Amino acid sequence: MAKHAEKAESTTNPELKFGGVWKYDPAPESTDHVVIAPRHELFVGGQWVKPKSGEYFATIDPATERPLSEVALALDKDVDAAVKAAQKAFPAWRARSGEDRARYLFRIARMLLERAREFAVLETLDNGKPIKETRDTDVPLAAQHFFYHAGWADKLELLFPGERPEPLGVVGQVIPWNFPLLMAAWKVAPALAAGNTVVLKPAETSPLTALRLCELFQQAGLPPGVVNVVTGDGRTGQALVRHPGLAKVAFTGSTEVGKEIQKAVAGRGVELTLELGGKAAHLVFEDAALDQAVEGVVRGIFFNQGHVCCAGSRLLVQESVHDLFVDKLRRRMQRIRVGNPLDKNTDMGAIHSRPQLERIRELVAAGVDEGASLHQAQCELPAKGFWYAPTMLTGVAMSHRVAREEIFGPVLSVLTFRTPEEAVEKANNTSYGLSAGIWTDKGARILWLAERMRAGVVWHNTFNRFDAASPFGGFQESGFGREGGRQGLRAYVRLQGGLLPG
Ligand code: NAP
Ligand code: MG
Repeated sequence: MAKHAEKAESTTNPELKFGGVWKYDPAPESTDHVVIAPRHELFVGGQWVKPKSGEYFATIDPATERPLSEVALALDKDVDAAVKAAQKAFPAWRARSGEDRARYLFRIARMLLERAREFAVLETLDNGKPIKETRDTDVPLAAQHFFYHAGWADKLELLFPGERPEPLGVVGQVIPWNFPLLMAAWKVAPALAAGNTVVLKPAETSPLTALRLCELFQQAGLPPGVVNVVTGDGRTGQALVRHPGLAKVAFTGSTEVGKEIQKAVAGRGVELTLELGGKAAHLVFEDAALDQAVEGVVRGIFFNQGHVCCAGSRLLVQESVHDLFVDKLRRRMQRIRVGNPLDKNTDMGAIHSRPQLERIRELVAAGVDEGASLHQAQCELPAKGFWYAPTMLTGVAMSHRVAREEIFGPVLSVLTFRTPEEAVEKANNTSYGLSAGIWTDKGARILWLAERMRAGVVWHNTFNRFDAASPFGGFQESGFGREGGRQGLRAYVRLQGGLLPG
């Protein structure tokens, strides 16, 4: 509720009034440009429609606090209209051949790549993440999800031999703000490939790229109602997951909201997948290539300002190399360039929102209070916007809040271990279980550790590598179900069994 109260305040803030189209002015030598409409409506039944609520909210650029656009607030009646549009579109969409569905997905993927620069700039503006990342990771990976799932759309029978995979129906998808475009692609592509129709609810603070994706859906000629996008806040998400017309809910976000959704769908026969938080252990052994491990650890925690569910936020370093490794890390952190997210040399952009910044500050203060030592890169942070310097806490104990709670920011908690057994015990001592990382020179040790670590993804001698073909998901409070690969598609079909030959 606090979140909603805050939103109400921000829409009445005089600074957030709109005077016309706001245009991002590129540097003179650059050809970057993106025009952002001052107002965005809902995408329902293939049309842009005004919200029945009559209300709009602002989305801002977290790096400058400048308003970017106002966006329609969908409440119960709007969500109902979107689900009805998806229900209406379902019979014809499921009846199309897989080859036909694949054509739409390939077209969307190609169009996304053709407009990659525009999507990268828009994502950077609405989210605060550096252009280097939106350009090299978010947009290409989002396109990859469409390409990858297009490839399966006409081969589902091969994927599930001896079975008859049937789509589920209307899928309600609720996504967070940390990878807005990528999460939209990640959710929409497999759902459509398998013949489902979709109502997608982006996060309230980062709706613009999902809305622009709807332009591609229109231009690709996707039949009306196959994908509908309802923007809004937690109330919109609640209205969606409670709607009786859904066959499945797919959610990515916090563990707290995930638990609420689990209760909301209980007993309704609705399929559910939850991708929630994490507190990944990142293990560094004394025999590892330490300079490479430093790069991996930096990528593991400072990529996307640490707003990553699978971030390597707990560094477990072998005691014998602790001082050396921490020293290397401290020097490397000093070289991270923090600032203007649109500058292609920037490594770390803005924290996504003020509440997120406050949460990071509160948890770091708690870490220091509990006895950890604070190391922050010395860097000049812009006066406007939401910023936090790359941070490391050493001397952290397993009982500290910064070792147990997800900070979801650029803050690394450092702990030590002596033996592989102790490393596994500490790595698994968490309520989460999404990802983990291992740096060691010994292949046998990697296998031994990977078998024992309770995490959905275990990277070795690398970190934060993603691929549409690779299943992603967690254990325990990190959620259930997998997204990506064969396992991800499995969550979007009902297997009817008994496909008879001839
Ligand atoms: P969040 O508050 O859980 O929000 C996620 C989405 O759910 C947003 O669209 C949100 O709308 C909506 N929502 C809020 N309350 C809802 C309710 N009662 N019913 C239905 N929907 C509701 O999480 P966040 O703050 O956006 O994202 C950060 C969290 O997500 C972190 O904990 C992170 O670990 C987790 N995450 C996990 C993964 C993964 O793959 N496992 C990936 C990314 C993020 P509003 O935007 O209006 O709040
Ligand atoms: Mg924004």
